[in-house]
Amino acid sequence: MYTLLCIFFVLTGTLTGCSKPEPTQAEFVLGTVCTITLYDAGKPKVYRAIFDRLVEIEKRMSVGMEGTDVYRVNEAAGIEAVVVHPTVFEVIERAVDFAKLSGGAFDPTVGPLVSLWGIGKDNPRLPEQAEIDAALPLINWRDIDLDREKSTVFLKRPGMALDLGAIAKGYAADEAAAIIKKAKVPRAIIDLGGNILVYGEKPDGTPWRVGIQNPLETRGAYIGIVEAREKTVVTSGVYERYFESDGVRYHHILSPALGYPVQNGLLSVTIIASRSIDADALSTSVFALGYKEGRALIDSLEDVAGIFVFDDLSIRLTKGASFRLTDDKYQIVSD
Ligand code: ADP
Ligand code: MG
Repeated sequence: MYTLLCIFFVLTGTLTGCSKPEPTQAEFVLGTVCTITLYDAGKPKVYRAIFDRLVEIEKRMSVGMEGTDVYRVNEAAGIEAVVVHPTVFEVIERAVDFAKLSGGAFDPTVGPLVSLWGIGKDNPRLPEQAEIDAALPLINWRDIDLDREKSTVFLKRPGMALDLGAIAKGYAADEAAAIIKKAKVPRAIIDLGGNILVYGEKPDGTPWRVGIQNPLETRGAYIGIVEAREKTVVTSGVYERYFESDGVRYHHILSPALGYPVQNGLLSVTIIASRSIDADALSTSVFALGYKEGRALIDSLEDVAGIFVFDDLSIRLTKGASFRLTDDKYQIVSD
């Protein structure tokens, strides 16, 4: 019923048959399989430093783990402001920026709805309309009080809950990249459950090729390739986490206005950008906004490109999306 899939995989030399596979390390962190591949100077201690950092981020930002900063903020909703680690403050602040930018389509206070649907849990379920009606008034990013000086976060109303699930992995990928840079590893691939960041370029000087998951097929089937250097490629889609009830598929990107999974004809949105925190927040924001408004948002930003995949198997690209279609069941259209 419940499924968690990696969205992307990076096509390295192995597929084109020109280089030996590099050592890769994978661990289950941040609710997903995180795979790191360090090339050339990839020492065990660099791997360790990266995974330690990912675990640290999880221990501060996970909503489901007791004692994390986010957990404590949620427990104190409507009661008091909670001091959080500066990195947690920074991510929440950025999440609020994207809530503003997306007119609330992206909302980090979506927590009560996520719990209600059981997204990411063992027993997701279709809630009663009355339960959704009761949760909706609790969703509003404007009711997050942030005090930068004191590094505190206060959710104004009891029952409110933060959920950083749509942005924390992006932040974590940027942090992993910073460690890689400091360790002077020349090239690397960071894959946090499909949240991809490619660092440096391939040994032969050509760009990395990132496969974009076919949203209707099982993991590893891709519809095309993005070529990228020093970029992050992040997808939000209907296939990432979902459950089925009476033959209807319910996925994990929820409309803060309606309380149901967003239904707008999109199967997935991929964002290509320089910072993974932005790409992660944007992939969810743009998916939730839908094509017209989502595209306008991408077009308004520097250095951001997008790939929209629709349920009629059409694909639309924004300026700067270097996407090569490889699956002929899909079609790139340009309206
Ligand atoms: P993934 O976590 O699979 O990479 P996303 O980045 O799109 O996918 O994040 C989806 C997660 O974000 C959901 O599982 C939920 O925790 C949370 N979420 C769902 N809807 C919204 C929304 N409208 N705004 C912000 N966060 C959301
Ligand atoms: Mg996201």
